Amino acid sequence: MKVGIVGAGQLGRMLALAGYPLGLDFLCLDPAAEAPAGQVAPLLHGAFTDRRLLARLARQCDVITFDWENVPVSGLAAIAQRHRARVCPPLAALATGQDRVAEKRLFERLQIPTTRWQAVGSRRELSRALAAIGLPGVLKTRRLGYDGKGQALIRTRADAEQAWAQLGSVPLLYEQYVPFECEVSIIGARSVHGELGIYPLCGNVHGAGVLRLTRAPFGPPRWQRRAALYLERVLAHFRYSGILTIEFFVRRGRLIANEMAPRVHNSGHWTIEGATTSQFENHLRAILGLPLGATRARGFSAMVNLIGAMPPPAQLLALAGVHLHDYGKHARPGRKMGHCTVVEASAAARDARARALLKDLGVEVRIP
Ligand code: AMP
Repeated sequence: MKVGIVGAGQLGRMLALAGYPLGLDFLCLDPAAEAPAGQVAPLLHGAFTDRRLLARLARQCDVITFDWENVPVSGLAAIAQRHRARVCPPLAALATGQDRVAEKRLFERLQIPTTRWQAVGSRRELSRALAAIGLPGVLKTRRLGYDGKGQALIRTRADAEQAWAQLGSVPLLYEQYVPFECEVSIIGARSVHGELGIYPLCGNVHGAGVLRLTRAPFGPPRWQRRAALYLERVLAHFRYSGILTIEFFVRRGRLIANEMAPRVHNSGHWTIEGATTSQFENHLRAILGLPLGATRARGFSAMVNLIGAMPPPAQLLALAGVHLHDYGKHARPGRKMGHCTVVEASAAARDARARALLKDLGVEVRIP
């Protein structure tokens, strides 16, 4: 069977690498000729909206998936209709994941707690939102924001002016700032036959809006139960197929949904070595209608993102038990270049390894 991947970033690359042992073939589409997945799978080089290339993908593949939530929905909808291509996860979930307002409405409809928010389309609406929700808060672009880009923290009226000047040219939303104790994410798969597989909760530490560290399993069982309940509501709502991720803030023991991603997720990279079946393999199994693999943790994992530049591989490989993943990208400040994972026998040993790894890499973040 052949899987088409729209987007050939590191997530597409890890999907392909997980699929080869299952005997799967891949064909990717990406505007970047040197995209990471294109180094391990055939690549159609062109725009995500190129109808000719999308049609080729549809003709040659049994199922089409995506590795980026901002892939234009219209092109995928057209090949689903005209070429009867099977696109998974569902396009309705993709469309919701592209718009923070649609996400918030979905969370509210499914009674999943989220931050207080208001849509902002003008300077006057920003004033109204500030009055209704108060300070501090975060002004975010509705679309195309990622890794802390397209958002501004507003603590004072003066900040509001600056944030508006910076972001005001596109549709926005303003939401309450959550002084969270920690951030967590839940990742789960639903197969086309409705089978569910939910991974242990991930504890995530961000620096400047970018994920630096994930630890899993993380947190008490009641957080796991709550997060899984919320995830299952969203999976059922969309009659979903594939991997879905929801990120939460934790404040006074309460989970507050921040956003969802209709795809495999950076906070799930630990599952490659740290779970019985990786998120990448389970995404493929789910969309191909194969039985899901067990989502149990093999131990206590820590995943550290390598950002901006790859450290010399020998520096990391000299450390016992470090699994290194290099995405094959050119170095650029702030760019996710690779990651490494350790799996330990206890949470305490895992946390000590995570701290040592971050120190070796010169990363300064506060680990709760
Ligand atoms: P996002 O792009 O929404 O995932 O935001 C990136 C990161 O910014 C989050 O993981 C948080 O660390 C921080 N952040 C975003 N929104 C809020 C908020 N309302 N309150 C506190 N921190 C936030």
